[in-house]
Amino acid sequence: MNAAVVGAGMAGVTVARLLQEAGIAVTLFDKSKGSGGRLASRQWHGDWIDHGAPYFGAEQPAFHRFLRQRLASSVLATWQPGIAGLVAADEQSCYVGVPRSSAVTRALLAPVCFQPATRVTRLQRDGSRWQLFNDGDSLLGSWDLVLLALPAPQARPLLAALPALATQLASVEMEPCWVTVMQTATPVPLPDVEIGAHPHLRRITHNSAKPGRSRQGIYVLQASTAWSQNHLEEPPAEIGEQMRQFWLDCRPPARDSQILFCHRWRYGFTRQALGQACLWQAAERIGLCGDWCLGRRVEDAWLSGLNLARQVLGSPAATL
Ligand SMILES: Cc1cc2nc3c(=O)[nH]c(=O)nc-3n(C[C@H](O)[C@H](O)[C@H](O)COP(=O)(O)OP(=O)(O)OC[C@H]3O[C@@H](n4cnc5c(N)ncnc54)[C@H](O)[C@@H]3O)c2cc1C
Repeated sequence: MNAAVVGAGMAGVTVARLLQEAGIAVTLFDKSKGSGGRLASRQWHGDWIDHGAPYFGAEQPAFHRFLRQRLASSVLATWQPGIAGLVAADEQSCYVGVPRSSAVTRALLAPVCFQPATRVTRLQRDGSRWQLFNDGDSLLGSWDLVLLALPAPQARPLLAALPALATQLASVEMEPCWVTVMQTATPVPLPDVEIGAHPHLRRITHNSAKPGRSRQGIYVLQASTAWSQNHLEEPPAEIGEQMRQFWLDCRPPARDSQILFCHRWRYGFTRQALGQACLWQAAERIGLCGDWCLGRRVEDAWLSGLNLARQVLGSPAATL
C-alpha cells in the first residue's frame, strides 16, 4: 500500500508521518522549496526569519506528546514571550521551531520521501489507483490513495473528478494577511509580542527574541485582516512602506528601521471552518485535511492530519 500526500504544512506532515509509521510508503509533495507551509521561514543573510506562524500553542496533551515523542529539544523549544495586549490563552507559553519555525515540519517528515518544488495540478483515476500530474502536466506516478493537505481554495481545483467532494469545501472561507519584516539598527524597547499596537497591525513579533536566533533587531509585522483584504493586490513595495509607517506611528524610536521583505498570505487564516475534523472517502481512497477543517491554528492543522490518519488506518482513536 502506498500513499501520496500533497502539501507539507503541519497537517500534511502529520498525516504523512503517521501513515509512514504504520507501514504505508508515503510520498509527500509540496510546491515550495521546503516544508512548513504557513509555518514558514525565510533565510536572511545566514539567519532565519519566520514570516508565517511565529510560534504556536498546544492545548491538548496529545499534541504535546506527539511533538515531544518525535522532536528533539534542539528543534523544538518552549518560549514564554513578554506580551503586550490581549492574547489567547495558548499564546502565554508556546512552542517555537529552532532555529526556524519550519524546523518542526522538516524534522517530522524525515522518515518520509519528500519531493519539494513540485506543484500538483491534476489528479486522475487509473483503475483503483490515483495518478498525480505536475504543472507541466507530466505524470508524477500513481498511488493507492491520495491525501490533500492544502488550504481549501487550493484543494478545490484538484477535485474536478469529484464534484460532490469539491462542493463540501464551498462553505470554507479563508482570509489574507500581509506581513512585513523590519530590522532596526539600534535596539528598540519593545515587548517580544505586541498585539493590536496599531489599528492596522494585528501583531508585532520580535523574531530575534525567540530561542536560537542570532540576528538582532528583527521584527515581524502582521497586518490586520481588514487592511490586508483592502490592499490585497497592491505591490509589496507599497505595502512595506505603509506598514513601516504604522510601525513608526506606534513606535517613534524605531526611525532607523529598514524593510527587509514583505509577504502576502492569500490564504493566511480560516474565517469559516468546515466544522469536521477531516474528509475521507474510503471508496475513492481520497481524503482532505488542513487547519480549515477545524479552525485557524497550527494545532487545528495537526488535529486534522491526525484524524485523517486514523480514518485511513481505520484505527480506534487510542492507537494513534
Ligand atoms: C502570518 C501568520 C501568522 C500565524 N500565526 C499563528 C500563530 O501564532 N499560532 C498558530 O497556531 N497559528 C498561526 N497561524 C496559522 C497557522 O500557520 C496555520 O493554521 C497552519 O500552519 C496551517 O497548516 P496546514 O498544514 O493546514 O496548511 P499550510 O501550512 O498552508 O500547508 C499547505 C501546503 O500546501 C502546499 N501547496 C499548496 N498548493 C499546492 C499544490 N498544488 N501542490 C503542492 N503543494 C501545494 C503549500 O506550499 C503549503 O506548504 C498563522 C498564519 C499566518 C499566515
